[in-house]
Amino acid sequence: MTPTDPASTVLFLALLLVTFGYGVTCWFWPFKACRTCHGTGKRRAPFGRALRLCPPCDGTGLRLRPGRRVINAARRIHRANHHRN
Ligand SMILES: [Zn+2]
Repeated sequence: MTPTDPASTVLFLALLLVTFGYGVTCWFWPFKACRTCHGTGKRRAPFGRALRLCPPCDGTGLRLRPGRRVINAARRIHRANHHRN
């Protein structure tokens, strides 16, 4: 099934571009600032003024993008196949 009308062709190209753009973003900028601690890596304790490490990012303030995780997994599979031959 190929899109025949211009509208669906544009939509298809836009989707392709967004997917590609996201892939490039994940490739060059695999980390993004952690949402929980806003990139500081520290969390204020609910009581008192003590600071502790942010659990989701392990105190780094950075989170690996889900897309990059997919790329890493794909590379691992590719490498495994390559070494088997
Ligand atoms: Zn964090």
